[in-house]
Amino acid sequence: MNKKAIALMSGGLDSTVAVKLIVEQGIDVVALNFKSPFCLCDGSKSEGCKSHAVAAAEQFDIEIKTLHKGLDYLDIIKTPKYGYGSAINPCVDCRIFTFKSAKKYMEETGASFIITGEVLGQRPMSQRRDPMFLIERESGLEGLILRPLSAKLLPPTLPEIEGIVDREKLLSIQGRSRKEQIKVADDYKIEDYPCASGGCLLTDKNFGKRMSDAFNHKENLGWSDVKLLTMGRHFRLNETVKAVVGRNEDENRRIAALGKKGVVLTPNNFSGPTVYVEEERNGILDDDLTDMAGALILRFSKLADDEEPKIDYSSEEKKGAFIARKVLSSDEVDRMWLR
Ligand code: SF4
Repeated sequence: MNKKAIALMSGGLDSTVAVKLIVEQGIDVVALNFKSPFCLCDGSKSEGCKSHAVAAAEQFDIEIKTLHKGLDYLDIIKTPKYGYGSAINPCVDCRIFTFKSAKKYMEETGASFIITGEVLGQRPMSQRRDPMFLIERESGLEGLILRPLSAKLLPPTLPEIEGIVDREKLLSIQGRSRKEQIKVADDYKIEDYPCASGGCLLTDKNFGKRMSDAFNHKENLGWSDVKLLTMGRHFRLNETVKAVVGRNEDENRRIAALGKKGVVLTPNNFSGPTVYVEEERNGILDDDLTDMAGALILRFSKLADDEEPKIDYSSEEKKGAFIARKVLSSDEVDRMWLR
């Protein structure tokens, strides 16, 4: 066993403090940051958790590697062996997936063990004692996952047993409060941990409804489909047709950029949201459904009584405009709204 470790680093408070504790012991740490659209740990959705982790790694002058979670991660979310938490979060399976990827990187880089910012009892599903040990076993990393924030409450890991890491300098934090981590961060003069409590969209019940709907209706779900699920208001118009309505200018722009497989509708002579509508099986949208998408634009726009609302539409095959006439009742909108 050598003095090189791989750190799972989100850039949040816990992983930042955990890394600092180990760097202070003279261990050569390489940070590993996993990127996916589900991470809420960043103001910029396109960057996921990456930029905070990069900033933290720069503070400590350590190398950082970013890995994108692949499509196999979507399979884990769809059918997790160990089930879901309170929403569509498959935390135990997710941790096993993450640790297996980290183990591969550890072996490739010649590192000896893995460190994480996990805290005993902080999260109900994956950070209790039994699931932690199960996750270690299933990842093939028994004795090789060091959790510096809670280490003194857990059995000694191999790097502690072999004297690579001084257990006495590690902590015994447990539970959801982050007071102790904040105190340690202050002691080390770590100032920049903007995403103190982390965040994962999979734990959001509303997002879980959209994700389940996508699993149930869409074949071959890809990352661009998932990115669309992270923004806008979502409506299921029928078994095979979905619409996404932007909530602000930024979302309107991003929805139009991502919506490549269906039709993008935008108000021509009034102000209102962009709507993306897609047929999820054969890609062919009939006029009734395009009208319905136009009606969704009207539902979320403010129009003067004498205005004749013209809507532009475009897809890979065609472009054009029409006057929106259909109006949706509140009941119809509520029935279709995935929230
Ligand atoms: S909260 Fe999200 S990222 Fe964290 S373990 Fe659960 S599913 Fe994975």
